[in-house]
Amino acid sequence: MKTYIVGNFKLNFTVGEASIYLHKLLKALPVYRDVDVVIAPSTVALQPLSLQVDRHKMKLAAQNAFYRDYGAYTGETSFSQLRGLVDYVIVGHSERRHIFGEDDKFVQKKVAAAVRNKITPILCIGETESERSFGETADVIRDQLLGGLADVADDELDKVIVAYEPVWAISSTKAAKLATPDEVSEVVKLIRKTLGETYGNDAAEKMPVLFGGSVNSSNAGAYLTVPGVNGLLIGGSSLILNEFVDIIETAKRVKS
Ligand code: PEP
Repeated sequence: MKTYIVGNFKLNFTVGEASIYLHKLLKALPVYRDVDVVIAPSTVALQPLSLQVDRHKMKLAAQNAFYRDYGAYTGETSFSQLRGLVDYVIVGHSERRHIFGEDDKFVQKKVAAAVRNKITPILCIGETESERSFGETADVIRDQLLGGLADVADDELDKVIVAYEPVWAISSTKAAKLATPDEVSEVVKLIRKTLGETYGNDAAEKMPVLFGGSVNSSNAGAYLTVPGVNGLLIGGSSLILNEFVDIIETAKRVKS
């Protein structure tokens, strides 16, 4: 299976800054066939960057999109409008769930809309610190995973990527803690077990599962060697070009 290294710029970088970053990243990267490098800049940067990107080296993702294709939805961008610009869309990121109130039903419609529009959704799931402390991690993971996938046909499951992002480990969270590789391993096992019980072992093995939460060039190798982890979703460290390139090179080294 491929390895995925996804940089989520969140609400950072002007279009000009994102374009300069991309220019430098393309210069720094060779073509890595077994590592899919992806960046998710702001929506406004997607059109210009789609003209600039070398798709042999890397791909673009949107950070969010709305599930209706068109209509009276002021301020939204649809998956159908993103067709041709991006290969991936991040769906259900914890900041969307917790700041913008997106629930599993909403996320479910977005995952289905992405698949319908031939864009790979990166479905983010993860428990908060209080959910973990109350012993609710397994329930939250199962609900978010099966809720997110509920409208995807069985024969389209291979078009979805899951990202496990414990909310308490995300760098923007107050007092973020690093997840240990053992903690990641336990939840990744649960994700694959849940997928296996629901959709069969073949689907469970084929679905890429990424980890995200304060990943940097020093800890990327440890997370990438957790069994069942197929890549990383990176926020803060993806904004620092050298860090991001180091993480990509680590992925190449660890996974080949
Ligand atoms: C994220 O927000 O998806 C993320 C993983 O952020 P960070 O790497 O900054 O923790």
